[in-house]
Amino acid sequence: MADLELTFIGSGNAFVREGACWNGFVANGRYLFEAPPQALMSLNRLGIDPNAIDAVVLSHHHGDHLLGLPFLLLHWKYLGRTTPVTVIGPPETEDVVREISRRTYPTLFEGGAEVRWVTATPGTPLEAAGLVVEAVEVRHDPKLTANFGYHATIAGRRLGYTGDSALCDGVLDLARRAEVLVSECTSRADVFDNHMNLVDDMPRLRAALAGDASLVLTHLPHDLGEHALPRTTVATDFATYRW
Ligand SMILES: [Zn+2]
Repeated sequence: MADLELTFIGSGNAFVREGACWNGFVANGRYLFEAPPQALMSLNRLGIDPNAIDAVVLSHHHGDHLLGLPFLLLHWKYLGRTTPVTVIGPPETEDVVREISRRTYPTLFEGGAEVRWVTATPGTPLEAAGLVVEAVEVRHDPKLTANFGYHATIAGRRLGYTGDSALCDGVLDLARRAEVLVSECTSRADVFDNHMNLVDDMPRLRAALAGDASLVLTHLPHDLGEHALPRTTVATDFATYRW
């Protein structure tokens, strides 16, 4: 196996047109970045045992990144999980998930596998199940508790993940540190103040990366179109990439 292996459980932005799945990926079969609504379905389809996920890393609380967590918790409670799982996210992640679950699966938190809730703090690396992650503040939705990207070290490789964000200092910092950067790219040319696009932002982000670093685009629209960026991959649903 390669040192770093990323499998995309989805690659779409919030609108997931034309049959796409919402963005999220599994690193080395153990670390799930984002819990989109179809996370459990995608893991099962890919043959990745949900009970083998040791940590979930959440960038922010928008539904396309979070609403799959109750289904994962349901699986872990009832389908044989015996090991603890760590959920890393912005402040109040546990409260948000408990509030959703209280109205949808009222007994979800009664018994079951141990869940360790960890609030990430920008600039302070934390370790969980062999994964080292450091949150980086990015610019997305100021009404949420926080918006994080992450710098991660997995099997000695440096992975960056932007979460959802406009091009900002945090995103550029992630790019400078990464061997592999997974970046949102929400539109081709449409300009939003809380997201990045292909035409204006990706060339600047690519330029901030080392020449031999890889860029992987996700959180995509249905009409991203062609690009000519070096060492840049457009993620597709259920694909695996290795470095
Ligand atoms: Zn978002």
